[in-house]
Amino acid sequence: MSILGVSPPDFMQDEEIVLFAEAVEKFYEKHAPPDLCRKWREQGQVDRALWEQAARDGFLCASMPVEYGGGGGDFRHETILSMAAIRRGVDGFAIVLHNNIVAPYILAYGTREQKHRWLPRLANGELIGAIAMTEPGTGSDLAAVKTTARRDGDDYVINGAKTFISNGQLANLICVVAKTDPGGGARGISLLVVETDRVEGFRRGRNLDKVGCEAQDTSELFFDDVRVPAANLLGTAEGQGFRQLGAELAKERLTIAYQAVAAMERALDETVPYVKQREVFGQKLIEFQNTQFKLAECKTAAVIAKVFCDYCMGLLLQGKLDADMAAMAKYWTTEAQGRVIDECVQLFGGYGYMNEYPIARLYRDARISRILGGTNEIMKMLIARGL
Ligand SMILES: Cc1cc2nc3c(=O)[nH]c(=O)nc-3n(C[C@H](O)[C@H](O)[C@H](O)COP(=O)(O)OP(=O)(O)OC[C@H]3O[C@@H](n4cnc5c(N)ncnc54)[C@H](O)[C@@H]3O)c2cc1C
Repeated sequence: MSILGVSPPDFMQDEEIVLFAEAVEKFYEKHAPPDLCRKWREQGQVDRALWEQAARDGFLCASMPVEYGGGGGDFRHETILSMAAIRRGVDGFAIVLHNNIVAPYILAYGTREQKHRWLPRLANGELIGAIAMTEPGTGSDLAAVKTTARRDGDDYVINGAKTFISNGQLANLICVVAKTDPGGGARGISLLVVETDRVEGFRRGRNLDKVGCEAQDTSELFFDDVRVPAANLLGTAEGQGFRQLGAELAKERLTIAYQAVAAMERALDETVPYVKQREVFGQKLIEFQNTQFKLAECKTAAVIAKVFCDYCMGLLLQGKLDADMAAMAKYWTTEAQGRVIDECVQLFGGYGYMNEYPIARLYRDARISRILGGTNEIMKMLIARGL
């Protein structure tokens, strides 16, 4: 039973889901033990072997239909994979990005030919996916991207620079957000799929040195006259990129919210045993009312976050999760994550500031949740629009 003590909703108690969760735990236990996670943090990326193993065990594209080589699951399977990774400190394995963001764009908007061309290879590990929206000059204001994709005969020619791209060193299928009509604002944006092994002019820049999530290969990418077939335009018409991105972002935001819940759960799992054994002024730390009150507040925030996320997942599974709700989940849970983990660090005293303690890593990793997937200010803008 989790330290949060909340019974899972009915839709998480199906026998198949329970068995899947057990298989995921075994997968991480066997193939991502703490010493390997440490090595991945030191080298700034996970080994490709982990991706290959995940493919062999049927976890890549867990929620893609079986006809495209996927596992035939849904958002529940993806949530299990991503939460277990956070709880076990496997922070660099961006399977959730590959499974739950990149592959769904292709499934939702790709032509039949595109789905058959890319999804089975994303499922068997031949391709690792990334999504390249952000540029040095623009992040939140996506309509202002400068990367262009110019039609030239049967090809598109892509030029531009992207930054902060997760899976940037490992990915070989990159969904690039580019302007096919540079004067067209949001309506001029399209998604181009670049198979990096098959093109010239594509270059990976630095694997960026971050405050946390060190095992994630967040990178710069450069496109200099990269030529891709016109058939790599996602969908059938130019100018659909903004709409395509918007429709899928709710799912990404709920995923980030669940990751925040998992991080709070892990923080409490680390902190409660610590305060029960640490003695100060001749008493166990847990015996001070301040400690009890702080942990009561932390547990309450984590439980509320979890229950709200489960409610949102229920909506998502029925196809009813809207942008507002997903924005509320992402904004509120990641703010709670920051507060809860900060309190837990405080209860560890100086040890909470030492990298050898997992709580210190959770603290560093937590900061990005309020920034990526749309900053929390952008979440509030979305919520405010519906007022
Ligand atoms: C570790 C990491 C991984 C990432 N992975 C990816 C990835 O895989 N793919 C990808 O494309 N991007 C990725 N990003 C980029 C991320 O999505 C952006 O950093 C984020 O969207 C914010 O954009 P920005 O950094 O340009 O900040 P800016 O847009 O410059 O924002 C700066 C500040 O201004 C605020 N702000 C912006 N607009 C408004 C407004 N209208 N009103 C009020 N305040 C506003 C923001 O909230 C923020 O506080 C990643 C970033 C990091 C750090």
